[in-house]
Amino acid sequence: MTTTAIPDHPAGSVTISGLTKTYGQATAVDGLDLEIRAGEFISLLGPSGCGKTTTLRMIAGFETPDSGSITIGGKDVVRLAPYQRDVNTVFQAYALFPHKSVAENVAYGLQQRRTPRAEVRERVVEALRMVRMLDFADRAPAQLSGGQQQRAALARALVNRPAVLLLDEPLGALDRQLREEMQLELKLLQSRLGITFVFVTHDQHEALAMSDRIAIMRSGRIEQLADADTVYNQPASAYVAAFVGQQNFLHGQVSADGTTLETPIAVVEGPAKPDAKPGDPHQAAVRPELISIEPTNLRPTPAEGRNTIAGEVIQVSPLGEVIQYLVKVSDEHSLLIRRPAHGAARLSPGDQVRCDWAAEDVRLFPPDPTTARRPQ
Ligand code: ATP
Repeated sequence: MTTTAIPDHPAGSVTISGLTKTYGQATAVDGLDLEIRAGEFISLLGPSGCGKTTTLRMIAGFETPDSGSITIGGKDVVRLAPYQRDVNTVFQAYALFPHKSVAENVAYGLQQRRTPRAEVRERVVEALRMVRMLDFADRAPAQLSGGQQQRAALARALVNRPAVLLLDEPLGALDRQLREEMQLELKLLQSRLGITFVFVTHDQHEALAMSDRIAIMRSGRIEQLADADTVYNQPASAYVAAFVGQQNFLHGQVSADGTTLETPIAVVEGPAKPDAKPGDPHQAAVRPELISIEPTNLRPTPAEGRNTIAGEVIQVSPLGEVIQYLVKVSDEHSLLIRRPAHGAARLSPGDQVRCDWAAEDVRLFPPDPTTARRPQ
């Protein structure tokens, strides 16, 4: 690793501006700007094909951008080979050498760079200890579980002491329980080492669980860059609101006085939206866990600052800590509702219910093709 940090640009900082990459007619990354702080855990999150991996590969040096710049620690790296950049990459396919032991796999890169033998030994032990794999140093990759192979691949990257570690869906091949364990481990390791982690995933739970900040990508650009709480509770667009967590979208028109949204199933009260004009098509979004549900045969009584709709339960799904209900509120619309299982009212399909949520929990967005028909 060769980079010397430039003042005001700590070694692990990455600045990307105007980054573009096309493959034939397809634009994979489209003028992307991103400022990554030294020592942060940042995730690139988005649906398949939005340009996450291409962005990561350009930071790593495996792809050359058509235009734009990438600096690491303040140093322009676009023309540098991968091994000349202060980065290492961990892939979903761990790509360990099958005939070498774990320790030999971890040592390989250092040996290629003619690192003195005693230093190699010391650094391999250090890297294996970091990922709790010292006891497995002499095993072959085939004798390891998926999680252990992933730890070995991590050690192989960490042994180089990079300022930035790039991770491309590294937990994708693991089963759910192991994934969750590894998420905690990775986050702890990253905080302890203070290395910048750039983590590519299409799994929102993974991104929410680990990241200091999440970049939500759409068609080769960043739609929102913020911490998990902001991305979830103050999504910048309907696209972000729909991609992170689940939403009920109610489509309608802004009312004449500009304060409510007239939808086919109800007049929805939400927070004031000064930029929306009367008659504008808009959509109200409300999270399933923010809607309360009560058994009742009474007509809904609107309360100030609340939205109330009557409906009929059509599906009840116990999901462990929460119960999920699907409630039909018109011939064509239903609401998805989630309530904590503990202390929940017992409801069954066919029950008449009242669904109720606060105006302040509604988010209003302009129409967006990705949310045109969600959920019903
Ligand atoms: P996934 O989550 O499925 O891996 P992604 O968000 O990482 O998706 P990329 O792999 O960066 O997306 O791909 C972005 C777009 O560029 C896609 O439309 C993809 O088909 C295209 N693309 C990527 N690599 C190539 C390539 N080598 N040749 C042609 N097109 C490519």
